[in-house]
Parts: sequence; C-alpha cells; structure tokens
Amino acid sequence: MDAEQRTIMHLDLDAFFCSVEVLNNQELRGKPLVIGGSADRGVVAAASYEARKYGVRAAMPMRLARQLCPEAQVLSGDMEKYTYYSDLVTEIIAERAPLYEKASIDEFYLDLTGMDKYIGNLKWSSELKTRIVQETGLSLNYALSVIKLVSMMASNEVKPRAWGCAPSGCCGRFR
Ligand SMILES: [Mg+2]
Repeated sequence: MDAEQRTIMHLDLDAFFCSVEVLNNQELRGKPLVIGGSADRGVVAAASYEARKYGVRAAMPMRLARQLCPEAQVLSGDMEKYTYYSDLVTEIIAERAPLYEKASIDEFYLDLTGMDKYIGNLKWSSELKTRIVQETGLSLNYALSVIKLVSMMASNEVKPRAWGCAPSGCCGRFR
C-alpha cells in the first residue's frame, strides 16, 4: 500500500506508573509522589505532577529528589501491578485494532490504514480512548498521522502539561 495513505495512531498512557498507584490508593491523588528505588543509590523512575513542581524528574537520584521535595511519598513501584494494567489496555486494543505494536509498557502504535472505509479514524480513535478510560480508569493521549514518528511527537505535544493545566495524576516519561 502507498505509504502516504497509511494512518498510524500513537497511544500513550498518561503518567502511567503514578496513575496506576493513584487508582489503587485514592489517598495519593493530588499528592507529590515519587516512584523508584528508595536506597541511597536509588533513581527516580516516575514523579507525579505535584512532585515535578519541586523539580523532581525521572532518572534523577532519589537522594536529590528527597531534598527537593521532602514531603513526597516515595513508593518502590510494582512492576507486576503496572504489567497487569498494561495488559488490560493491550487486550482492549488487540480486540479492536487491525494491527498494533506495543512499543513499551505504556505506549502503542496502531495501524488504522484502511479503517476509514468503515468508520472515520478520528471517531474510531476517540471511541477506543473512551473505552480504555472507562474500563481501566487510566488516562491517555493519542495522535494520528501517516508515520509513527510524527504521531509519537504529536501525542507528546497533547500531554496535559503542554496546556499548562495540572492533570489529576502526574506526568513524565516512564520507560
Ligand atoms: Mg506515558
């Protein structure tokens, strides 16, 4: 098929590790949250939006994160739990998408090429998002274009922080 006619959707779960933690403990909602190794040599895997206000970032030494935001709740992270939620989302996508690729625990590429014959790609994408949000409680961003790279860049652009508003969960790249 002609490359120009492809429709590639990039779907990115928003603030994935933090969102899963908040889903499992509502008391964490709206609080500075840092996920990662708590030992002296530990590194931040994810920081909630609230923690990021203090300058905490992924890949930063945990010791520095604690200095920047002493009141942050530090969680060691639970890959089993994150994998469970990631698999839930994968199942929803696999049921509906003609072709998809799981790029990481919280990121997917979907090839929607040819779907326009049946339903508009935007409408389809928006319905998929609604379905994922309703069934898992997780939020996500997505974008469509003719190639993966542009779709990925575009979905990064529409992250909540790009609009300057505080999302309920947190933000950052958690890979
Ligand atoms: Mg993400």
